[in-house]
Amino acid sequence: MKVTPVHGALFGVAIGDALGVPVEMIKRDVLAQDPVRDLVGYKQHNQPAGTFSDDSSLTFCLAESLCNGYDLHDVGERFVKYFFEAYWTAGGVVFGVGKTTEIAITKLRDGVSPADSGNYDEGCSGNGSLMRILPLLFYVMDFEIEKRYEITREVACITHGSMQTILPCFYYLEFALELLQGSQKQMAYDNTAKTVADFLAGSSLGEQARNVLTPLLFEDITKRSSASILTTHQAVLTIQAAMYCFMQTDNYSDAVLMAVNMGDDTDTTAAVTGGLAGLYYGFESIPEKWRKEIKRSNEIHDLCDRLSKAMGLT
Ligand SMILES: [Mg+2]
Repeated sequence: MKVTPVHGALFGVAIGDALGVPVEMIKRDVLAQDPVRDLVGYKQHNQPAGTFSDDSSLTFCLAESLCNGYDLHDVGERFVKYFFEAYWTAGGVVFGVGKTTEIAITKLRDGVSPADSGNYDEGCSGNGSLMRILPLLFYVMDFEIEKRYEITREVACITHGSMQTILPCFYYLEFALELLQGSQKQMAYDNTAKTVADFLAGSSLGEQARNVLTPLLFEDITKRSSASILTTHQAVLTIQAAMYCFMQTDNYSDAVLMAVNMGDDTDTTAAVTGGLAGLYYGFESIPEKWRKEIKRSNEIHDLCDRLSKAMGLT
């Protein structure tokens, strides 16, 4: 079976994640002395090279679920299986899961509905929904924007329910949709800014909600200095950092390595960046060595085959 954009996107996420895992929470100035250039093992989480983390595991849970259609309860059940039974882990170890995600998954296990399991506090800001949302692109790609937003919101809210976490997911998928439809990156950037700004202007979401995405909608993020791009765990910052790394580079490796070497939340920044870069440059553009060394490579490939088929992409 031929590879599709699904393969680029999902391998893109997992390899970015695995590149970042060994140096998660290391500061940028420290990484500048000894930058990451390859998949390496151990260090921060003491895992062998090629080990992906929660970002990819939860991405694969969503992808698996979408192979059978859209069912929020099924997505939630797979998240529970991941956290409590190590389903879709790289090597049987669950690590790096954020507090908001852990609390939501525990609620799901205890029978709370996926519509109520997430954190709806205005202050909820983490990137735990952004890091796992990309497979949804292939389900929503043919819908009208209102429905794309609504489905994205539902899937995001399983764990993170605030505007400052939902809107980065929405922007990410809208930008990815532009890439999937064949736009060159600058055109995709401009078109997404317009599409999302118009949608938000015509929606009942408040101005405060719209301000969440201001740097991406009304500025050219590529004009910023890299020092002004922050890579801590807030979703609004992660999507900006991922867009910066994607827009500033011209191939998969450079994009994800730039993201990792920005430090702090390295795995998630590189997972989000890698999803875009893998989708845009394609599966074959990801170094073969990395595609082979990523844990569960064959099973990820099989999952991509199945999701492609389910989404009519073959
Ligand atoms: Mg992680």
